[in-house]
Amino acid sequence: METGLHERDRAGVQDFVLLENYESEVAFIDNLKKRFQENLIYTYIGQVLISVNPYKQLSIYSDAHINAYRNKHFYEMPPHVFAVTDNAFRSLIEENRGQCVLISGESGSGKTEASKKVLQYIAACSGHQSTVEGVKDKLLKSNPVLEAFGNAKTNRNDNSSRFGKYMDIQFDYKGVPIGGNILNYLLEKSRVVAQMAGERNFHIFYQLLAGADATLLQELHLERTLDSYNYLTDGLKGTVSSINDAENFRQVQQALGVIDFTVEEQREIFAIIGSILHLGNVSFDEVEGNAQVNSRDLVVTISRLLGVNASELGAALTHRTIDARGDVVTSPLNHELAVYARDALAKAVYDRMFSWLVQRLNISLQAKDTRGARNNVMGILDIYGFEIFKTNNFEQFCINFCNEKLQQLFIELTLKSEQDEYRREGIEWIPVEYFDNKVICNLIEEKHKGIISILDEECLRPGEPTDRTFLEKLTQKLEKHDHYVCHEKAPIQVQKVMGRDEFRLVHYAGEVTYSVNGFLDKNNDLLFRDLKETLSKSGNHIVRSCFPEQELRSKKRPETAITQFRTSLNNLMDILMCKEPSYIRCIKPNDLQSPGIFNDDLVLHQVKYLGLMENLRVRRAGFAYRRSYELFLERYKCLSKSTWPNYKGNGGAKAGVQLLVKDLGYTNEQFKMGETKLFIRYPRTLFDTEDAYQA
Ligand code: ATP
Ligand code: MG
Repeated sequence: METGLHERDRAGVQDFVLLENYESEVAFIDNLKKRFQENLIYTYIGQVLISVNPYKQLSIYSDAHINAYRNKHFYEMPPHVFAVTDNAFRSLIEENRGQCVLISGESGSGKTEASKKVLQYIAACSGHQSTVEGVKDKLLKSNPVLEAFGNAKTNRNDNSSRFGKYMDIQFDYKGVPIGGNILNYLLEKSRVVAQMAGERNFHIFYQLLAGADATLLQELHLERTLDSYNYLTDGLKGTVSSINDAENFRQVQQALGVIDFTVEEQREIFAIIGSILHLGNVSFDEVEGNAQVNSRDLVVTISRLLGVNASELGAALTHRTIDARGDVVTSPLNHELAVYARDALAKAVYDRMFSWLVQRLNISLQAKDTRGARNNVMGILDIYGFEIFKTNNFEQFCINFCNEKLQQLFIELTLKSEQDEYRREGIEWIPVEYFDNKVICNLIEEKHKGIISILDEECLRPGEPTDRTFLEKLTQKLEKHDHYVCHEKAPIQVQKVMGRDEFRLVHYAGEVTYSVNGFLDKNNDLLFRDLKETLSKSGNHIVRSCFPEQELRSKKRPETAITQFRTSLNNLMDILMCKEPSYIRCIKPNDLQSPGIFNDDLVLHQVKYLGLMENLRVRRAGFAYRRSYELFLERYKCLSKSTWPNYKGNGGAKAGVQLLVKDLGYTNEQFKMGETKLFIRYPRTLFDTEDAYQA
């Protein structure tokens, strides 16, 4: 295994800080590419890890590798996700500082795989005790379960996470994992009822049909053929070569067992999945403008699986009751609205079941014995990266908002911590200019003025608000904002490609044009009262707890989707803000999910919007390297007579290093002595020293 800095000659530099031409994008990409071609997928910018998806199995995650990275200092070993994890884990144990590993990148760049490596390392390195093996097992097994229900094949990634995930692992004072907690964000529930060409519904539907035994299928009234189910036939029909649905189903069942799901709970979960498949096949006739279910048998099957009354469900699918201040009026739905109600039901049931699943996992992961625990927590965030598609909708708006918030956090935590360290160590430094995206966060979320407020206001407005009236309001109020572009005010060349139902935001990562179509509907996220009421009486425990009766009695209007999302994001920011962050920035080398191909343009695009050049500039503006006096002395003491074989003078390691750097010929410009660390400005200086050491 390669070690040390000398790897640079074989394949670029392992830390971008060492790059001579550090302001050149070409040099940056070139370095990533050289390394990628040598299967060196990891590179640092200081403490930030960049990971390029190899799209092939590399033998760099074995137990031997884990052991090699254990308790090593960060720069002693080649860059690796294990090094980052080890560093975070040790800060947690030795300094009692809560940690978080923030993983970002676009779809298919390797975020989820990276998060699994973090977990793998933690499970292998953290204390061993028979009682905690159970906790570790559960933590590890939560992945296949969440992936089955929350991941799907998309055109970008055969195993794409369609939800955001934050997982906390809780340790006791000895560094033994004792529990965990998962937060989930914004599941892409529209996928339950429709998929794009080439994409699939969530894995679990295919897993169930392929993997369930005959008895279970019979219980659920299902047949194995995929094209029997309308909710599975929009996109890709059939199976995907890289996915073994039947085998994965067995793993999910096994994992559910390990996480203590009872047989009854498992039965109820699969009944829900089955009921959704059947629901997609319910169709309606229209008689004099009123929708009628034309497949009563199907409704009976669904109601059995969902544990609700069949005629009530039939009525709820075709009627709508409005309770206007005590005046209860029930009216029939037309065909279009009945289809809408059916799909809303399928989406709501799936979405709420997913959240229930996470809650249920959390009960299993809950620390049993927290006595003596210092509540040391390590968080792992695996969340959707910035998205710019041909057409961008409400979902992209939410996701990109999330990324603005994370960028804001990145600025606060890294730039601030960099400055803090200089202050702590008593080192003078000149702050670097960087773009602060606070202004975009405000544009989106500021109370009364931001896009979210305007959207919510429009959703609540009496009369007939539409996506178009929402767009008009936006433009009225925001037209002068530097980061908002409307059709009328756009430069001619932008206007040409922009529709009249679109607006454009200048995000920190680039410009994105959003279509307002569907914004109001998705934000309102309406499920007719009749359906909620039916489900609240369900005999299926999961369904009943997902649709509590209190919700019906509440006079308060339910919060809109975007407001819920904003609240949960702000909570997440609070959680992350008080932790020490480690960053993993994932990059996708090509659009083909193939090994060995490095598309320069595609990579450059990601380097730009991950803000890596800026990150490097900030890092370089300060000191490229910093080492504690003890470590520096220990490694290089042989290079000076004054310190070899041991420095015996007064003043400890600091005084030793002072003599050492003098003998090494460091000039005042090249280094600074902090309180506990030596700061070296240029990488070349350290290289020369390392060269002398190796010689
Ligand atoms: P999404 O945002 O769509 O969820 P993601 O960033 O989580 O995408 P992953 O699912 O982690 O992407 O990775 C996509 C695929 O790339 C994996 O299924 C795997 O085949 C491959 N891959 C990712 N990282 C690695 C790695 N370190 N080694 C080998 N293959 C990898
Ligand atoms: Mg993922």
